[in-house]
Amino acid sequence: MNVVGTLPQMRDLSRRWHLAGETIALVPTMGALHAGHLALVAAASRECTRVVVSIFVNPTQFGPTEDFSRYPRDLDGDLRALSGLKVDAVFVPSAEGMYGPGFQTSVELAHLPRHLCGLTRTNHFGGVALVVAKLFNVVRPDVAVFGLKDYQQVRVIEQMVADLDQDVRILRHPTLREPDGLAMSSRNRYLSPADRATAPTLYATLQAIAGAVAGGATDAIRLAADGRARLEAAGFVPEYLALCSPETLDEVVTIEGPVLVAVAARLGATRLIDNLVAVPGGSPAAVSPAS
Ligand code: AMP
Repeated sequence: MNVVGTLPQMRDLSRRWHLAGETIALVPTMGALHAGHLALVAAASRECTRVVVSIFVNPTQFGPTEDFSRYPRDLDGDLRALSGLKVDAVFVPSAEGMYGPGFQTSVELAHLPRHLCGLTRTNHFGGVALVVAKLFNVVRPDVAVFGLKDYQQVRVIEQMVADLDQDVRILRHPTLREPDGLAMSSRNRYLSPADRATAPTLYATLQAIAGAVAGGATDAIRLAADGRARLEAAGFVPEYLALCSPETLDEVVTIEGPVLVAVAARLGATRLIDNLVAVPGGSPAAVSPAS
């Protein structure tokens, strides 16, 4: 497993692999790896002959009041976690290497970031699109794997790839969950024991909405309001709970087809997100693969 610290080294490695007829799968991460990340890595190794995992806590996707400086960083632990898997290179660029002096280019999408997390994290998806575009340019992957836990991020990347004709296939990976339903996240470690006990209510609330949709409920505004009330009663401070188009993320008023049910809520100082796709008349089994 190569640990690659500079962009020229990564570019050379990728070029050599491509010349040798190899294919490359990339898994972009911010480190503090958990089983959810490792599942993406395993999926990557089934797609291509070479696997690159990038670890970069990207400053441009954090707002000034967000947790960039206290985001968990544990490169030694991450390398240990990856050592048991089929990983050919861990790309660990520096912030200076990624954003040199005079850097001034942005990658902005007009519509998808104006929903859900983008309402409060106004520069977040521009930062995500920029760093992922740069990673694609340096690593030149044939496939890149992204987790559906960050559904809006997946849609932003898919749209960017389509709009900019980037030559990479985006693979969506289902969300990995703790046994009690809580979506795995590097930020879960911030939860106090009491908040950790409450946290599964987030997914339970989404599942209840999916159950109502499966049972014929069509009033999306009402379902969202009921869901927010349930979260507030449990001690969450909801930022949004929305039913929207899985494609455009535009809000849905009357449910007529599959809807994305997406939530962000604070529990103590920790911000949690989750989502699933609810299907009218659908069984719970039909809901879970996209959740
Ligand atoms: P992050 O390090 O949080 O930026 O996440 C890196 C990648 O892992 C992203 O594509 C995430 O969507 C994905 N990911 C994070 N948590 C999970 C999870 N619980 N299940 C599946 N994928 C995840």
